[in-house]
Amino acid sequence: MYKLIVLPGDGIGPEVIVEAVKVLQAVEQKFDLRFEIEEHLAGGACIDVHGVPITDETVSCCKETGVVLLGAVGGPKWDDYPLEQRPEKALMRLRRELEVFTNLRPVTVYDRLRNYSPVKPELLKGVDILIVRELTGGLYFGEPKKIEKWNNEERAVDTMVYTTSEIERVSVAAFEAARKRKKKVMSVDKSNVLATSKLWRKVVIDVASHYPDIELQHMLVDNCAMQLILNPSGFDVILTENTFGDILSDEASVFAGSLGMLPSASLGIGKGMFEPVHGSAPDIMGKGKANPVGAIKSLAMMLRHSFGEDSAANSIENAVSDVINAGYVTADLTAEGLKLESTSEMGDRIVDQILTS
Ligand code: NAD
Repeated sequence: MYKLIVLPGDGIGPEVIVEAVKVLQAVEQKFDLRFEIEEHLAGGACIDVHGVPITDETVSCCKETGVVLLGAVGGPKWDDYPLEQRPEKALMRLRRELEVFTNLRPVTVYDRLRNYSPVKPELLKGVDILIVRELTGGLYFGEPKKIEKWNNEERAVDTMVYTTSEIERVSVAAFEAARKRKKKVMSVDKSNVLATSKLWRKVVIDVASHYPDIELQHMLVDNCAMQLILNPSGFDVILTENTFGDILSDEASVFAGSLGMLPSASLGIGKGMFEPVHGSAPDIMGKGKANPVGAIKSLAMMLRHSFGEDSAANSIENAVSDVINAGYVTADLTAEGLKLESTSEMGDRIVDQILTS
């Protein structure tokens, strides 16, 4: 029996999580596995009931179980709350407390959808990128972080800080991942300007010495932003720090045709948090338009990384690929030649494909 915590969250979060849970039930049936699911509130939904974005009790359950599947949090209702009380704080707190320092964001382009990305289809042939982003350090967490009075004006300070061990552990994750792929790591930094990037490059080179089978290259982040568009199929694993990874992974998400397609995994020692990369999409909430594929593929990543159930994970990913390449899509990808499905119809198709293949 495997145990997991499910945090549906806000907006379309609950809608896509329902589909992921449907898929999990299909996996139970097909692979004779058992999952115990405990559901908790997070984000705005939790603020409305408990006055905080996540309760201490939920955080303890997540830490104890070590496996969390999350929908999305946030929405206009809570936009004016002070920074500390906003729904997104639930994510920051969970990432910090679970110490999930490695974020994996795979970007796959399905052949059938190559025409639907704003990037030219011929550039997208064979694109299969894994972005490995450091998640608990750097600019987003460094102290001091403040806005203060300064002479006759205000001054804001953020701090970008990395230690050797923080860089080492995420680099190891990237090299290990590359071993199961095309054996190429592109480390992205800004070492011509930033001290943190100088240390980053030095530590990555040290770690690479333990992986002679992996080809390591370095690229400055501004150049990487450009090369990603010019030659996306030239990348395999991209390893980078928190802020650069945040930006580059959103850039790369465009290749997949819709934000709704993309999964993510945030991994620490014995802990994992799995969530689609999209937000709560309040503009389409409750309309049956949400694409559940990112959430369903996040579930596949959970099965692989937290439970070691590779066959079940592969079966989900193959089913998604078969359904999409057969031309079934949700409203975010609709176009001539494709067949429009609602959120739940898409989930049902993927379930059928798992059970019948
Ligand atoms: P968003 O990702 O929610 O939406 C951006 C656009 O993509 C919207 O047009 C939306 O309709 C579309 N979209 C997103 N997911 C989709 C899906 N699965 N299927 C179809 N279309 C989809 O980003 P936003 O609009 O900037 O933010 C909305 C709220 O979500 C904000 O409160 C923001 O803070 C929050 N947010 C949460 C997370 C998270 O929980 N991890 C991430 C990003 C944003």
